[in-house]
Amino acid sequence: MVSAVNEQLLDERLAALEEARAWSPRLISKLERHIRTADDLALFRINAFSFAQERHLPENEIIDLFLHATALGLFSMDWSLFCPQCCCVVESFRSLKSLHNHYHCAFCQVGYEAALDEYIAVAFTVSPNIRKIQFHDPDQLSAWDKFFKTQNTAEGLLPDGQPLVNAKAAVARSVTYLPAGETTSIEIEVDEGTVVGTCPLGRAAIMVSIVGAPASGPQVVPVAYGETVHVRDVHEMAPGKIVFTLANKTSERGMFAIAVLPPGFDMGRAPVHFIPFLNGKRLLTTQAFRDLFRSEVIKAREGIGVKDITLLFTDLKGSTALYDRIGDLNAFALVQRHFDLLQDVVRVDYQPIALNFENNDLHSMKATLTAGTLAKIQTRAMNEGDHICRNEEVWYQPLTKVAHAMPVYALAHDFKGQGLGTTWSSPDKRSSFIGNFAVPSE
Ligand SMILES: [Zn+2]
Repeated sequence: MVSAVNEQLLDERLAALEEARAWSPRLISKLERHIRTADDLALFRINAFSFAQERHLPENEIIDLFLHATALGLFSMDWSLFCPQCCCVVESFRSLKSLHNHYHCAFCQVGYEAALDEYIAVAFTVSPNIRKIQFHDPDQLSAWDKFFKTQNTAEGLLPDGQPLVNAKAAVARSVTYLPAGETTSIEIEVDEGTVVGTCPLGRAAIMVSIVGAPASGPQVVPVAYGETVHVRDVHEMAPGKIVFTLANKTSERGMFAIAVLPPGFDMGRAPVHFIPFLNGKRLLTTQAFRDLFRSEVIKAREGIGVKDITLLFTDLKGSTALYDRIGDLNAFALVQRHFDLLQDVVRVDYQPIALNFENNDLHSMKATLTAGTLAKIQTRAMNEGDHICRNEEVWYQPLTKVAHAMPVYALAHDFKGQGLGTTWSSPDKRSSFIGNFAVPSE
């Protein structure tokens, strides 16, 4: 059964959404229909790309649609860290501000560095003020639903197109809540394979290999649920009945999942690929996000790396000579890398690029780089009156390998282009480097 919407609020917010920008015809009514009629799961962590694709709508406009709808309180944003191996949702946040760089998958017992352009997915959940869905209170869900529907993502697919999470559900024998301070017994019958037991918070992890002749009676495996563990507790048991006695030593309700993997099944090596999802980097380079969620963008600069958003001047002039000089394949690889770097470009401007030097000595030269009227960097060498501190070396490192580089004084440091949501002119500071490259002889 579909729960009721708050009619008045929905009406008001949709009216405001209509005014937010020009939309394709009937776009808002399609969103309204979804809010009113979709089942609960379809309103939980909506993948903007899938939403667009299913309705044959342009991706960029749908991203904008959900961002404006979120700013108006129709939806909330949900930032999830996916484990690329097991497709679990390692962590999930309501805000970019809460994200951090390191995360650890308790199922795979593998640690990851979070990168905004990889497994950080941004999705949209209907606001409880607009329509209440069961996923607003995941603790009220059955342990099975909470585990498979909120702590795993269906966006990682096996080669046959089935979500890995379905394969996980097929081998799961039990997903149970563990009341605080109590011992819970879980009994399973197993003939062969490997029993794996995990919990989303990493407070217990076991692996039991089934070997030998069948056991004559029940075999008990005590499991302590408490401190975070980073390795699995390994056992060997005979085929037959196994009773896990799970002692929850914490003051919070826990959860434990038990699966039996058939012989030869290697969950960690599943050839998973992800359907396209809105990743953190794409969102941060979306103008509507930068406009509507400015404080999040600023916060992101302090926390998680946004380091590959770069203002890049490229000049492919001379690529033919490059092909001649280092051979077609090598040159092709280089040029290809150049385009790979450019694939996530949010905006391209064509400007004449000029680089001029006054004085041929690197240690005293004045250098001027201009990209038409768009950008200008002019430097002079440091002189005796300048104060140099460690900041130059720590913060203003060159972006690529150079033969020699040194901090210089920026006489001009201007960007007057569009597309970044900002322009600047910040002359007279020590924030530049000058250096030269050693071109490797092939
Ligand atoms: Zn994992």
